Amino acid sequence: MQLLTLLGAAWSLGVAAILLLHRRALIALWREPVMRHPVLIVESDDWGAGPLEQATALTAITDCLARHHDSEGRSPVMTVALILALPEANAATHLRQLDAPELAPILATLHAGIARGVLAPQLHGMTHFWPPALARAALAQPPVAAWLDAPGLTEQLPSPLQSRWTDASELPSHPLDDELVRAAVAEEVAAYTRLLGTPPHVVVPPTFVWTAAVEAAWVAAGVRVLVTPGRRYTRRDGAGRPAGIDKTMCNGELGEGDVLYLVRDDYFEPLLGHTPEHALAALARKTELGRPCLLETHRNNFLAAAGGAPEQSLAALDSLYRQALATYPNLRFLSVAELGRTLSSNDPARIEQDCRRRFTIWLRRAASLPRFGKAARLSGLLALLNLFAQSGHRP
Ligand SMILES: [Zn+2]
Repeated sequence: MQLLTLLGAAWSLGVAAILLLHRRALIALWREPVMRHPVLIVESDDWGAGPLEQATALTAITDCLARHHDSEGRSPVMTVALILALPEANAATHLRQLDAPELAPILATLHAGIARGVLAPQLHGMTHFWPPALARAALAQPPVAAWLDAPGLTEQLPSPLQSRWTDASELPSHPLDDELVRAAVAEEVAAYTRLLGTPPHVVVPPTFVWTAAVEAAWVAAGVRVLVTPGRRYTRRDGAGRPAGIDKTMCNGELGEGDVLYLVRDDYFEPLLGHTPEHALAALARKTELGRPCLLETHRNNFLAAAGGAPEQSLAALDSLYRQALATYPNLRFLSVAELGRTLSSNDPARIEQDCRRRFTIWLRRAASLPRFGKAARLSGLLALLNLFAQSGHRP
């Protein structure tokens, strides 16, 4: 009897230690809202200043989106993350904005898709690089100088230089001056407002490298939602990789100034071999965990000029929506801005309020944490907690 008591006490202590060790992550997962329905949002980056072929591609995408409807009769809303300007030839800091006459068809197609309610613009950046860094790099790197001779697809720049909010003209990159950051944010927000007719509500930082100073400037300019990969990279390391993580975040978490973070960490890039089935598997994983599924994609999939196969990518997009609706009759199409409002208002029509169902999803999320999940399984804690979960519950 005494031995059993001792074993019981040791087990309780062990379990308490596991819970204590992981308490921050477990509390964050409990606070993270649970979606009541599967949510699918395709987010497409890098549109805007660039080849005119984008106008044709955006029209075809708009038609594809408008063909599909969820059970509430709503079409999917694809996010178009916008780059507002390209440099003039051999002048990295002299910018031509999206309303220049030669780029006007792109802007007109964007406005048409927005008016049909299937394209949702968000700010990506004035440019997909930090102009002074590009100018410096062009002096030392012939391929960058060649790109600047006829600026077109920023996708073709070396990856570190595509980070707008760090100076990657040399590696490791150097931080930008806060005053310059504030001025650049004010300039891009003013340009977005002029070009789109409304101030930016959502921002997705180019290459997911940004800093607290950049974020504060966006928030001061009225940005309410930030699309993240769940962590904030602040620089490029010596090998050019995103580095310097100074913050992690969950869906629906609030940052300084109450900016709302979203997490986008799934991909649908047909050019990289991602099939609709690959994207559906991501939707299944996210749905199982009560999370919205935000799929990252890029314009290059839809542009022949950028090495893409527009017809195949469009067919894949169409098939993704068709299969997602067939698999999940209760699927919901939301825009990112709507998702942000839903999360921040804890809207009971879309966010789970029932404690037992929330506990069930929380337990699945906790079990998916690699270290906690393993410890909870080995100790029997997971089996014990599962007794309180709702068996068979599916969102
Ligand atoms: Zn981008």
